[in-house]
Amino acid sequence: MAYYPQLVKQYPKQLRLFNYGSTDIGKPLTLAVLSKDGVFDPALLKKQNKRVILINNGIHPGEPEGIDASMMLVRDLLSKNQLPKDVVICFIAVYNIDGSLNRGVSRISQNGPRGYGFRGNYRNLDLNRDFIKGDSRNALTFMQILNTWQPEVFLDNHTSDGADYQYVMTLIETQKDKQHPLLADYTSKTLSPELYKRMAASGYEMIPYVESEKATPDSGIVAFLETPRFSTGYTVQHNIISYVTETHMLKPYDKRVWSTYYFMQHLIDICQRDAPKIGNLKRQTDAQVQQQNTFALNWALDEEKYDMIPFKGYEAGYKPSEISGLNRLYYDRNKPYTKNIKYYNTYKATAFADKPLAYVIPQAWGKVIDLFKLNKVAMHRLKHDTTLSLQMYYITDYKTSPRPYEGHYLHSGVKLNPVDTKVKFYEGDYVVYTNQPINRYIVETLEPQGVDSFFAWNFFDSYLGQKEHYSDYVFEDIAAAYLKQHPELQKQLEAEKTKNPQLAKSASAQLEYVYRNSEYFEKTYLRYPVGRLLTDVKLDFQ
Ligand SMILES: [Zn+2]
Repeated sequence: MAYYPQLVKQYPKQLRLFNYGSTDIGKPLTLAVLSKDGVFDPALLKKQNKRVILINNGIHPGEPEGIDASMMLVRDLLSKNQLPKDVVICFIAVYNIDGSLNRGVSRISQNGPRGYGFRGNYRNLDLNRDFIKGDSRNALTFMQILNTWQPEVFLDNHTSDGADYQYVMTLIETQKDKQHPLLADYTSKTLSPELYKRMAASGYEMIPYVESEKATPDSGIVAFLETPRFSTGYTVQHNIISYVTETHMLKPYDKRVWSTYYFMQHLIDICQRDAPKIGNLKRQTDAQVQQQNTFALNWALDEEKYDMIPFKGYEAGYKPSEISGLNRLYYDRNKPYTKNIKYYNTYKATAFADKPLAYVIPQAWGKVIDLFKLNKVAMHRLKHDTTLSLQMYYITDYKTSPRPYEGHYLHSGVKLNPVDTKVKFYEGDYVVYTNQPINRYIVETLEPQGVDSFFAWNFFDSYLGQKEHYSDYVFEDIAAAYLKQHPELQKQLEAEKTKNPQLAKSASAQLEYVYRNSEYFEKTYLRYPVGRLLTDVKLDFQ
């Protein structure tokens, strides 16, 4: 952190440092911004039709290549007077400051560097699972930076683990079926192939990030699906072209740093070359997403579809372990190979939602409101208490992980029953129209079936609990009178008893059945509290 201020002294016009917000240990996030013309006002840069690249470093402190490579690249771009004229570059110097200060030797499978930090931040969160839920102050500050500078291109620098092979650098690009078709067309046909070509010319041939279905990569590799909890799953909701570099942990550290350096250099160069095109694509994508009606909420790998790609690996073998005496895996670097292997890179959407005209969010859900504000979601507030006719979801089924994951008990397999009803909202409650460039973020967070929706991350769990009940001996008489007044429910109960012998044998279960199907039962139980306004009504706003 001492290095950047020294550079600013040498190049005060073109390098500026900004401190944003806080992290979980109270230190701010430092953003180093390079601007050839010395313009550092994001709004003015938009007016001047400049592109912005945001580069994130050190989210996993044991993976510090990007931290070092960024310092080198900033120095070189300035000292060689090679700043691009149409691209402003923003570097987050170190994102996980808290973890970086927690020095250790915990990444035992890695070949250097000598000193590095710990993966968890001060709250022991993996920050690269925190983008959608925003538990850490680091994530909230990242949202502030992203939505202030509004980059068209984002890069997150990492180090891999897993199999051994010949490549120093591997790459995760936004999964094409999850990315907007306009951006996917450009990245898959132009930008990504160009990055692969230029990296090979620099001596750092790349391969897609190696995630194997089975033990070794020769059985095929699978494209990484970055859901919105990950940095690039979150940035894709903002229609930003996004990459993750993953250097290989067993290659010498200097090579890992240089490959990260060259990748950033090539990305910047291509962005300069394609600056008008990337600007147009962003504007067109924003406009199309404003109009888009149906949104995918979850994805699954299509195991039928794959490409064959050349892969430079090392032969894998098995030999007796000195620890257990049982077979252990090893890679033989004396036996390099090039084989064509399967690359699975097709995902199918497995859940969809049609957007409503607007979502209505009670102000009680303060964290949702805070996150929407940080993400510059346009919101209106009701001027008066207002009863609205809208669609509310009842949660009819869901699964919950038995152990916490990143501080939450994630929900999945959510099933819904949409019901048209009237709900009273209060003065100051929020109405979010779905005609915004950031629609993907709005819909993917608010639709409970979203893989990383706010519902999945336990934001609304209080609605999963029943609040009122009855005393059996009191309700017996009331229920009997109620059945007399409602013969249709009596019939329904009798039919249910013939279907369900357990019910027929249990007095308390029958009483409960009457209660649940009567008007006495709370209407808000399992009712998701965010409303879906489907028809255009005139509303008074503050
Ligand atoms: Zn990582």
